[in-house]
Amino acid sequence: MTPATYLDLHRDDLVAVLQKLVRIPTVNPPGRSYGEITALLVRELSLAGLKARRFPISRALARRTLGADSLENPRYNVLGISDLGFEKTLHFNAHFDVVPAGGVWRHESPFEPAVEDGWIYGRGTADMKGSIASLLLALRALRATGTKPRCNIEVSFTADEETDSLLGAGWLVDNAHLRADYVVVMEGGEGSSIGCGHNGVVWLNVVVHGRPAHGSQPEHGINALEKMSALVLELESYKRLLSRRSFHTPDDRVMHPTINVGGVFAAGPGGKINTVPAEASFSIDRRVIATEMVAAAEKELRSFLTTAARRIPRCRITIEKVSENHPCYRDPSHPFFAAMAASVRRVRGGRPSFHVSTGFNDMHFFAEHLRVPTIGYGPIGFEMHGVDERACIADLITASKIYLDLMMTFGG
Ligand SMILES: [Zn+2]
Repeated sequence: MTPATYLDLHRDDLVAVLQKLVRIPTVNPPGRSYGEITALLVRELSLAGLKARRFPISRALARRTLGADSLENPRYNVLGISDLGFEKTLHFNAHFDVVPAGGVWRHESPFEPAVEDGWIYGRGTADMKGSIASLLLALRALRATGTKPRCNIEVSFTADEETDSLLGAGWLVDNAHLRADYVVVMEGGEGSSIGCGHNGVVWLNVVVHGRPAHGSQPEHGINALEKMSALVLELESYKRLLSRRSFHTPDDRVMHPTINVGGVFAAGPGGKINTVPAEASFSIDRRVIATEMVAAAEKELRSFLTTAARRIPRCRITIEKVSENHPCYRDPSHPFFAAMAASVRRVRGGRPSFHVSTGFNDMHFFAEHLRVPTIGYGPIGFEMHGVDERACIADLITASKIYLDLMMTFGG
């Protein structure tokens, strides 16, 4: 039997594995049930013939990075290796955390996955436990049919992608002594579109400081909201500046850096209808394109804000960094990308193309930190982070076949 036939005959096994994964509510924040899911993932990798282990994050590091509250929810990452004596190692990565689930779901509980008309519903089916199930079935198929890949296979399942990945993929690339020469992050591309990079981001919070006064005598105060409004208007010229910078993707799209202002905005403490606001704050989400550097983008934005505030009379601001993520991009002319495109074409037909996503994922840890060719590719999903998140079962099998094909044809 070929491994692909094995997959066609074991659709139900793939669904069963995915159901098991979704039933463990690895909701992040706060990062629940990581112990349970990583124990299961180590078992699954071992059954598929890999040498697998779990890395617990020390309490001291968790406290330092995430604060004392996080200690109730210990962090773990999983690493498996199948060392077949090859020189090169092909690595697959997925995160196992999911975003919280609210709203009214078609099948009631987002953590009791239901199957209907070829779809499987539940939190994480699309982002990205479906990818984990697809890969596990591909590994089972190799083992059951006695098929040898052309590289060593390394697999990581990591924590905290839905927050900042610091103790997930970020920790892994620094501490787990990976052997990865080539990486597939199993999201960030789907269908005939393969991910070869993504934007980065700088998140800042700007606090505008005024002076309170009684609402009946506004002339005695400095109105922080009015100063903030003036500052926000100044940002229009910064938007124009950003729109003149561009990056052409391999699939012929033009990407520009962007800012989103005030995803979060607030009056400071003591806000009352009859008080001149003493404080106002807003957030800025600055997307960093592949040709920019995060540090330079942050520096430029900070200096723009400081200069703009100086132009506004009595406008005093402080700028706080919330977080950042690096962009990544690799020209898809590298043979690894060609091999992935060939696998997608063989399994799916059509003409695959390469894109760069506006959102970020864990690819940059491998592409920028380890500096190895990294691809983003997974099964097609719907309503990620939304109500009725779901994955198409046929496409889970297709993704599984593509991973298999890559393992069987790409030798590095
Ligand atoms: Zn994801």
